[in-house]
Amino acid sequence: MLMNNNDDLFFTKSQLDRIIEKYPTPFHLYEEKGIRENARKLNKAFSWVTGFKNHFAVKACPNPYIIKILKEEGQGVDCSSLPELLLAEKLGFRGEEIMFTSNDTPPEEFRKAFELGAIINLDDITHIPFLEQSAGIPELICFRYNPGHLRKTSEGNVIGKPEEAKYGLTKNQLLEAYRIMKDKGVKRFGLHTMVASNELNPEAFVETARMLFNLVKEISDTLNIRFEFVNLGGGIGIPYKPEQKEVDLNYVSKEIRNLYNDNIVTNNLSPLKILMENGRMVTGPHGYLITKAIHTKSTYKEYIGVDASMANLMRPGMYGAYHHITVMGKEESPNDHTYDIVGSLCENNDKFAIDRKLPKINTGDILAIHNTGAHGYAMGFNYNGKLRSAEILMHEDGTVELIRRAETTSDYFATLDFPEASIRMNSEHTN
Ligand SMILES: *Cc1c(COP(=O)(O)O)cnc(C)c1O
Repeated sequence: MLMNNNDDLFFTKSQLDRIIEKYPTPFHLYEEKGIRENARKLNKAFSWVTGFKNHFAVKACPNPYIIKILKEEGQGVDCSSLPELLLAEKLGFRGEEIMFTSNDTPPEEFRKAFELGAIINLDDITHIPFLEQSAGIPELICFRYNPGHLRKTSEGNVIGKPEEAKYGLTKNQLLEAYRIMKDKGVKRFGLHTMVASNELNPEAFVETARMLFNLVKEISDTLNIRFEFVNLGGGIGIPYKPEQKEVDLNYVSKEIRNLYNDNIVTNNLSPLKILMENGRMVTGPHGYLITKAIHTKSTYKEYIGVDASMANLMRPGMYGAYHHITVMGKEESPNDHTYDIVGSLCENNDKFAIDRKLPKINTGDILAIHNTGAHGYAMGFNYNGKLRSAEILMHEDGTVELIRRAETTSDYFATLDFPEASIRMNSEHTN
């Protein structure tokens, strides 16, 4: 029988009970300490790189309280939409602290990124004239490489095979794109790729670095340009399952350092900064979805109905992803029941767990769903009239702060105007 894997909980049952008295379930609970430690671990692993920066992928956890913590830890941001750019701007990120990695980008988003002086990372060769017309040609340009069949992906990787991914340029397009930019007078260049997501195999990141270092050499030689940075993308996975192990960052760093010396330093291509844009590995393990069992149902299977739904955590329903579950106060009880843990959406994939071995659950029990700190709240939606939950942050001294309130039905009606039934927009929309 598997262990409960609850040794990493940063809260006790009684702490949680006190929080719930004030803030009803469901909510996401984040831990400041763990997030800071994680950010430091990443920086430390790559401290040999001058100018190493992780640009936190805002989409993973777009809450300003969380991103402010990461800013304090020296991270930049990776944005891919106008609201994400605005969030970054409001938080005081400036210029090249912001990476803008978008795809299928509307012109106003390019304009905003350009205005902020963000590093613009183009997803396609046709985006060159599009960017030029909508905003202009920036001083520094980056392109996203798609290696196609040259790279394979491993199981659990939610991004899919590179040759089937909509992102990035082929190698020939890349050479042409940098040449065009050089001809337009651009002198500062970066190269980006993102081929992995939720990847636990450390070799994948070493391989990505090798691929980009080789490409930097080839493009620099061919076009006689100099690269300032490579961005290895995000995608460092986290051990969602008890038997999985986290990526050994020190190993990845050491291997990349060897490659850097052999391929970059030796070829007189240094200094070359190394950037990353991880979201998941930074905040993922330090968030939990806290939810209460409100129904037990016994038909052809045993069900536990909780007060959260897929609207609060879509990964299980969308990817069949595993999220570990701890039944609070029953950590030491045997896992002698088999349950489907379900939400209230009228969709049968609204299940947080299927055939999960757990201790006996009664209504009123509190369940902590692990690893929801990234791509959890963020993927929320309102389908079926479901409302997004609150987000709560536990500070290093153990106090908690409501960092986003739960949605109410007036939020749900906020964008409507139907006077007949007194349904009104609750504000003019502002930009
Ligand atoms: C989603 C995304 C990331 C972050 O991915 P994680 O798995 O959270 O590390 C980084 N860069 C780009 C371009 C992305 O789309």
